[in-house]
Amino acid sequence: MTVQALQHFDRTHLWHPYASLPPAYDNLVVSHADGVCLYLADGTQLIDGMSSWWAAIHGYNHPVLNHAITKQLSKMSHVMFGGLTHTPAITLGEKLLGITPKNLTKIFYADSGSVAVEIALKMALQYHIAKQNPTKNTFASTHSGYHGDTWHAMSVCDPINSMHTLYGTKLPTQYFLPKPPTGFDTPLDDETKAQMADFFVRHHATLAGFIIEPIVQGAGGMRFYSPEYLSYLHSLCQYYDVLLICDEIATGFGRTGAMFGVNHANICPDIMTLGKALTGGMMSFGVVMTTDNVALSIHHSDCPTLMHGPTFMGNPLACGVASASIDLVHEYNTPHLAKLMQAKLETHLAVCQDWEQVADVRCLGAIGVIEMKIPINMPIFQSLLPKYGIWVRPFGQLVYLMPPIVMGDDDLAYLCTQLVALLAEYLNKTCVTAD
Ligand SMILES: *Cc1c(COP(=O)(O)O)cnc(C)c1O
Repeated sequence: MTVQALQHFDRTHLWHPYASLPPAYDNLVVSHADGVCLYLADGTQLIDGMSSWWAAIHGYNHPVLNHAITKQLSKMSHVMFGGLTHTPAITLGEKLLGITPKNLTKIFYADSGSVAVEIALKMALQYHIAKQNPTKNTFASTHSGYHGDTWHAMSVCDPINSMHTLYGTKLPTQYFLPKPPTGFDTPLDDETKAQMADFFVRHHATLAGFIIEPIVQGAGGMRFYSPEYLSYLHSLCQYYDVLLICDEIATGFGRTGAMFGVNHANICPDIMTLGKALTGGMMSFGVVMTTDNVALSIHHSDCPTLMHGPTFMGNPLACGVASASIDLVHEYNTPHLAKLMQAKLETHLAVCQDWEQVADVRCLGAIGVIEMKIPINMPIFQSLLPKYGIWVRPFGQLVYLMPPIVMGDDDLAYLCTQLVALLAEYLNKTCVTAD
């Protein structure tokens, strides 16, 4: 098939994430990916600035990850997890216990991030049923959060700006604090503290859990907030017996410059969800981890079974490649690499800071954000990408980079310089068309 024929089929039949069908503009046809590059069907090479949405932290076509999958494939790609267990699941469990906060000892293997969030919420509900607190059956979060696209995961996303507002009153109603004050280094002020405390005084009796993305709010706005906020939230949750659910699906495995977002605040949540980079971006997978307290409370209740069991639970291919990816995280010291990348991103992106159309430039770990004053015109932006040889996918007003964390200095410099040049041409173009 020619590239034109592929694009024709695609625009006629295939839905893409958060897109209309037929789409407003054509998707680029990618033929393969290797290292930190994507290759288009016409041979164009693009340096990847997205890690395929937080996931491909070690880059693409990594021989170690490929080997882990093919090795496991020759033994068994899948067997049911009901009544059976296997070495890949157990090995991964050991590796997870080795890197996550010490109190998280119980593990549930899910099939994606959103499903992991659903399971985390169910765990929290079952915990309070077990504790004979049946009124503790709603959830809280903050504005600007994002926790996935399934039904209850949607209900804890930002209630106004999220991609799910049109479902309206059909979604369960949860409680929301204002978004955490902006800035990793912003000290927690007394007013915010009082507002948080007051929120718990008013709602704790009906709250099963509080779900939050630690330190970085991703799809809800690419915002960074202070570890002090998270740590104070943790203390309120503990005091009021509200389970703290830390959604590390985006932040896990080094992206923010620490292994997990919670490590910045030195806290142990009651429940943690993992996904995205869990398999090094090789395939969909999710993990929910919790404490002895939560698991054993459910165990000692009238309904001791956790009511979830996906068909592909504990998939051996996913477990095998996740184990190999965690080995690479140790070998490369991925959190440290991300920390080093922050200074480089800051240097490269600083030039945009004073542009009239730019609202803010901010970086944390291997995340660089250029926030514009008005939303990006995607057809125009995307049409420029092949010419500049980079892959970047803005949303709304946010142009952001989260490159594979292994990216070398030269590639990172190229990615950033080209992005800045692309943006300059983009602004020129959109300015002209606006007239
Ligand atoms: C992406 C994401 C999810 C959803 O994960 P999927 O695998 O896309 O279902 C949930 N929470 C956070 C913080 C995410 O970034």
